Amino acid sequence: MRKAEVLTLLREAGGYLSGQELCGRLGVSRTAVWKIINQLKEEGYGIEAVPNRGYLLTASPDLLEEGEIRSRLRTRWAGGNLICCRTTGSTNADAKAEAERGAPEGTLVVAERQEAGRGRRGREWFSPEGSNLYFTLLLRPACAPDQACMLTLVMALAAAEAVREQGLDAGIKWPNDIVISGKKVCGILTEMSAEPDFIHYVVIGTGINVNQTVFPEGITETATSLRLEKGESVGRAQLLASVMEHFESAYARFLKTRDLSGIRADYESLLVNKGRPVRVLDPKGEYEGTAAGIRENGELLVKLPDGRMECVYAGEVSVRGIYGYV
Ligand code: ATP
Repeated sequence: MRKAEVLTLLREAGGYLSGQELCGRLGVSRTAVWKIINQLKEEGYGIEAVPNRGYLLTASPDLLEEGEIRSRLRTRWAGGNLICCRTTGSTNADAKAEAERGAPEGTLVVAERQEAGRGRRGREWFSPEGSNLYFTLLLRPACAPDQACMLTLVMALAAAEAVREQGLDAGIKWPNDIVISGKKVCGILTEMSAEPDFIHYVVIGTGINVNQTVFPEGITETATSLRLEKGESVGRAQLLASVMEHFESAYARFLKTRDLSGIRADYESLLVNKGRPVRVLDPKGEYEGTAAGIRENGELLVKLPDGRMECVYAGEVSVRGIYGYV
């Protein structure tokens, strides 16, 4: 992937990089470098070429293309195997198919658009082309199947941390929605293939509303995007790379204890429900209480009006604020 290498070197240089240095680092001829630079320009990259100084990267298009993403990834394993597509049914479905074919942990499927983007319990995830992030990370965790559901909270923390790097006050609505100003900017769907005591693989799909400005009827009141909240558009490849970096760190902490004790403090510091009244939409009966935090297994602790503490398991349940979505 020569394009990715050239982009990486230009980014790392942070200024002009001589053609000679580029040739040396890549082990290719001047003509080959020149060809790659021209290809990049055709794709929309701004690259200045100044005699005796070299090349300077001045602008990058907002592409979700392999070279662009790879040149920004600073991870050890996440995204090592990277699959980018323009349109797909669902990145979770693609990642599962890759997993069945033996794809390694860290395989990352990214799409510009999903035709059948899904949320939890078969709900739809609005996934139009060109402005948002839809990606699925494949994991093969060495833990028991009942521990894997915690990974959805691990990804929520990573996504919230990455969004906060944009200067936005993003929080987590338990278990795994990222919200800004009480509206949802990100949803996560975790799925697993397992036997009773052995995990084949886990896929974690994440959709982030990045530069979307209009939402369809039905979610206009509850959905927002980073661009709407920030007032300017956000580079998607960089955001994706940042989510992956944060995920690697949080996942390493998860694997040490196979629970959330290593990330609980960070997660709770971003948990918007904490200390607030919540309504638990349990299919067996709705009830209200005050969210107190999470347990090390990811359950939400809800203090009931009579003082008892209820542990809420995410599987079948949604949580709402008493007066609105959060
Ligand atoms: P909750 O119902 O509490 O939001 P959930 O975890 O059950 O959470 P998800 O599976 O994360 O829901 O997402 C599906 C829901 O999110 C849909 O039913 C719809 O209301 C909403 N939704 C769909 N697409 C988007 C989007 N792009 N941005 C924000 N919200 C969306």
